[in-house]
Amino acid sequence: MSIKVFINGKYYDKKDAKVSVFDHGYLYGDGVFEGIRAYNGRVFKLDEHLDRLYEGIRTLMLNVKYTKEEMKEIVLETLRKNNLRDAYIRLVVSRGEGDLGLDPRKCPEPTVVCIASKITLYPQEMYENGLKVVTAATRRNVPEGVNPQIKSLNYLNNIMAKIEANLAGVPEAIMLNIDNYVCECTGDNIFIVKDGKLITPPTHSGILIGITRNAIIELAQEMGIKVVEQIFTRHELFNADECFLTGTAAEAIPVVNVDGRPIADGKPGIITKTIIKKFRQLVQSEGTEIYPEEKQGDE
Ligand code: PMP
Repeated sequence: MSIKVFINGKYYDKKDAKVSVFDHGYLYGDGVFEGIRAYNGRVFKLDEHLDRLYEGIRTLMLNVKYTKEEMKEIVLETLRKNNLRDAYIRLVVSRGEGDLGLDPRKCPEPTVVCIASKITLYPQEMYENGLKVVTAATRRNVPEGVNPQIKSLNYLNNIMAKIEANLAGVPEAIMLNIDNYVCECTGDNIFIVKDGKLITPPTHSGILIGITRNAIIELAQEMGIKVVEQIFTRHELFNADECFLTGTAAEAIPVVNVDGRPIADGKPGIITKTIIKKFRQLVQSEGTEIYPEEKQGDE
């Protein structure tokens, strides 16, 4: 069955799902997006993803005609149209069609796209043995420029760092901020464990405030693990007891080596492993139901 893609109120087969080359999302990277996951018939943290999307929409002054509630229904309906229970959802809001100048006032209507499909970012082996990563020379965008809190269509900053990871033959790169503190990765947030405490860079260090990051902070606190949002350097990272990354696509994944330095004994740590396990349980049991009528049928 062909994938059905939502574009501005209509569903198209994958081969016909097209947007204009005059769309400023294409011409200038002018827009925002979300990557969302559905597990076991439920969309994980859908409201949180929509809140973040609409924050970007407000900041960029995108003139979206759909309310948050309507956007929620678009996500759920796209999953239903594609008969999906486990999926990766890509929601994209771009400035829309304009002329070749960058003035957004020339674009009367934003383009809203919703794609629901599958994703596997990393093989299972990497969840068991952990990732080797490097620090990229490319610094994370400064919040005073393109604020990393906006999940914008302009990912060049991250792509530059991803190219560095590719050249180093590793799957991810750690990005520092302009003050040389550890910030986040090209598509994931970062955590270290030191003396039983979980440490992750704070918002003001210039990160995307990850939904998975927030879910893991909550989970850890429920488990009685102390979590601090605090800046740290590469030195502290090299000397951490454990390290892991979080993101919607990656979920939570251990890091065992940074810039050639093994993290502790070079194996995924116990807190990391416990958190991954708990996170996997959480995503299976929580979220917005895609097919609520199924539940009625069960009763
Ligand atoms: N940082 C960046 C730069 C990202 O692109 C992402 C999402 N892929 C994340 C962090 C993780 O955010 P979330 O947990 O909301 O997916």
